[in-house]
Amino acid sequence: MRQELGDSMEQTVFVDVVLPVPIPQLFTYRVPRELSEYVQVGSRVVVEFGKSRVLTAIIAVVHHNPPPKYQAKYILELLDQIPVVTPSQLWLFSWVAEYYMCHIGEVMNIALPAGLKISSQSKIQYNPDFNNPELLSSEENTFLEFLLTQDSLTYDEVGRYLEKKDVNKVIKDLVAKHAIIVFEELKYKYKPKILKKIRLKRVYEGSEEVLQLIDSLEKSTKQQELILEYLSHIPIQDLPEKNKAGVEKTKLREAGVSDSSLKTLKDKGILEEIEVVISRFEESAGNPNKVIELSDAQREASNSIMEKFQEKQVVLFHGITGSGKTEIYIDLIQQVLASGSQVLFLLPEIALTTQIVTRLKRVFGSSMAVYHSKFSDNERVEVWRGVLDGTYQFVVGVRSSIFLPFDNLGLIIVDEEHESSYKQFDPAPRYHARDVAIMLAIKQHAKVLLGSATPSIESFFQAKANKYGLVSLNVRFGNAQLPEIRLIDVKKDRKEKTLVKDFSQLLLNEISSNLQNKEQTIIFQNRRGYAPYLNCQECNWIGQCDQCAVTLTYHMQSQQLICHYCGHRESTRKTCPDCGSTNVKSVGVGTEKIEDDLHEIFPEAVISRMDLDTTRAKNALQNIIGDFESGEVDILVGTQMISKGLDFDRVSLVGIYNADKMIHFPDFRAAERAFQLITQVSGRAGRREIPGKVLIQTGSPQNRILQFVINNDYVGFYESELIEREGYSYPPFTRIIEITVKDVDQTLAHQAANKLAEALSIRLGRERVKGPEKALVERIRNKFLFEVWLKLEKDKMNIQATKEYLKKEIVNLVTDKKFKSVQVIVNVDAV
Ligand code: ADP
Ligand code: ZN
Ligand code: ZN
Repeated sequence: MRQELGDSMEQTVFVDVVLPVPIPQLFTYRVPRELSEYVQVGSRVVVEFGKSRVLTAIIAVVHHNPPPKYQAKYILELLDQIPVVTPSQLWLFSWVAEYYMCHIGEVMNIALPAGLKISSQSKIQYNPDFNNPELLSSEENTFLEFLLTQDSLTYDEVGRYLEKKDVNKVIKDLVAKHAIIVFEELKYKYKPKILKKIRLKRVYEGSEEVLQLIDSLEKSTKQQELILEYLSHIPIQDLPEKNKAGVEKTKLREAGVSDSSLKTLKDKGILEEIEVVISRFEESAGNPNKVIELSDAQREASNSIMEKFQEKQVVLFHGITGSGKTEIYIDLIQQVLASGSQVLFLLPEIALTTQIVTRLKRVFGSSMAVYHSKFSDNERVEVWRGVLDGTYQFVVGVRSSIFLPFDNLGLIIVDEEHESSYKQFDPAPRYHARDVAIMLAIKQHAKVLLGSATPSIESFFQAKANKYGLVSLNVRFGNAQLPEIRLIDVKKDRKEKTLVKDFSQLLLNEISSNLQNKEQTIIFQNRRGYAPYLNCQECNWIGQCDQCAVTLTYHMQSQQLICHYCGHRESTRKTCPDCGSTNVKSVGVGTEKIEDDLHEIFPEAVISRMDLDTTRAKNALQNIIGDFESGEVDILVGTQMISKGLDFDRVSLVGIYNADKMIHFPDFRAAERAFQLITQVSGRAGRREIPGKVLIQTGSPQNRILQFVINNDYVGFYESELIEREGYSYPPFTRIIEITVKDVDQTLAHQAANKLAEALSIRLGRERVKGPEKALVERIRNKFLFEVWLKLEKDKMNIQATKEYLKKEIVNLVTDKKFKSVQVIVNVDAV
């Protein structure tokens, strides 16, 4: 009798998976019988997608329902016995996708370190059925003969053999002639770090045996020396158990041991080589139980934060620059870790490479993981796995670390919560790490501490509305005083012709006396490069990027004109390309020129510069900071990079070269940004005993923002800014969704943007739809950009429904044949 199938054990298993591609749905695959009982939600599988793409996917659902519309393919491989993605993460991925209007695959793509995504690589093989050698050129013939001796070759290997960069044509021709076969091979990206070690075979572990061994080698002094060298590391006579761990091969080599004697002793069966998987992170001890001695004011703030957490999920900690927020964080982190929960500490990108991590390391040692974009893939995978397996209960990281596999968070700290770099701009998901952190915390019943000396208007608004707890700390640590801030009217100085290379006398005098007193100076200018543009004095030609509607920035050191939007570079010109005149001048001032000018004015001073151009190399930033810390450098010139969390002892003067660009920038957040930036930069002065001074050069000394800055009046600034925001219906009163419409054809882009704006106004009302307007930079990489802004009142609009509606209208637009080429990018909560 035939037994009926249908017993659930025997039913075919299907999985719905998240693929790392921008498609709006999960895909169903079939699981081969032998893997049925091993597939789990959160494990990675390898699947074929489309005709020839092989991708890593994550299992989101396991079930028994074949897809109704298509024949499910089999999964090719199951990569994990234990899931690497937690259910909480899958939930977060789909929340992010929904809120920020992108696809879950795009979130997965950002979240998973590349090392956890295997990719496929194309390879070629000799076609065993090939029998038309007469079709081949002699070059092809030689190559095929070589290929016959190999199993297979990657494209790179083909290139190396043929000494050609581009091998596509060669391969295409050979495929057309049916001489070779192209296939995809999976490439595992993560490689554990391996340490090669040498040890004695077990039979020699006894002291007797070792002595006999040494005697037996008396004919070869080299081999005898090798064993003695080994014993100097591993004293087998006293500690035979140490032999198991062995000695690093490199150590023996360093001591002069030759590879040939090593090999001989291995061949003789006396030594053996072992491979040990080790961590990529240095061991450092730390002192996790170190008692942080908080000042009275700090202790009070810390207690107050803990108290507020009793009733509030989120607490905003407004502590002025130098108040010692980091010490308070450390104190809180210790408390949460002691209770057995995980802690995530978010920092803006640039602050992470610096002092604050060193300070945390001193306390938490290697039990703390750092997650950073300058890390290699392999290192990121080790952090990911370390969080999964509990090695790391505490992670300090940049915005993407909110996607790590936490399952038991107790606290998330978002330091410098006002920083706009928490918002990812490109590519999707265009998420705001602070806001995602709050969602994540809600999901895991954790608390969130937002810290800043200059909170974002949004967060302070929430605190004032009593949605967040608010704790303020208004004194600096250790009697340090806030710096005295003065404005310098450069318009007046210009009229009186007292400026030297655009530096006021006052600022120059202060720098000069600082140099005499061996105190340090920071000069801030938010523009890198030498000069914003080159300008022909005869015909007024200005160096512009061919592909973007911006001027090219002149970089003197490299003698190049560089586009800061698309990266285009060209060499500088001595003569005007339009009229041939040699009277071409640089206009405006970047950090590179300031550094140059200061060299000229103060030839005896040691000057260093910190901006994107000087910090590209791996350790460049640390070196610049280290030199300044050690006092070797007198003046540090920098862009906004120097405003982020740096703590120096001997800076008594901060000069802001030109505040005007910042305060007049055409964006509703410009005032907030300018206030934050100038306050933060000023906050680098006078952090210890020596009182600090800040001098701000401006043409608008009466400006509202600057007045609040000089009085250190954050709350005053907030209140005045709030009135502006309310008047123009900007956040925090509304949510803003920015829609960018792009095309190489300007008219088409404009029409498409118009059509979309029209369609959206029908339901949202004209007053909620702004634009289309040309983007601030109206052309980037040859595409014209138009923007439409939706301003949605938080109290009136159903944001969910609006997003659905927007999605539908975008689909309507891009499925219109006329607008086929148009790209639409949605940025929810644009900053
Ligand atoms: P903030 O981040 O609020 O600007 P920091 O945390 O950098 O301030 O603190 C400023 C300086 O004061 C740092 O050098 C820090 O080490 C020191 N400091 C702050 N609080 C303490 C404390 N309780 N004990 C010892 N040093 C402290
Ligand atoms: Zn000219
Ligand atoms: Zn460009």
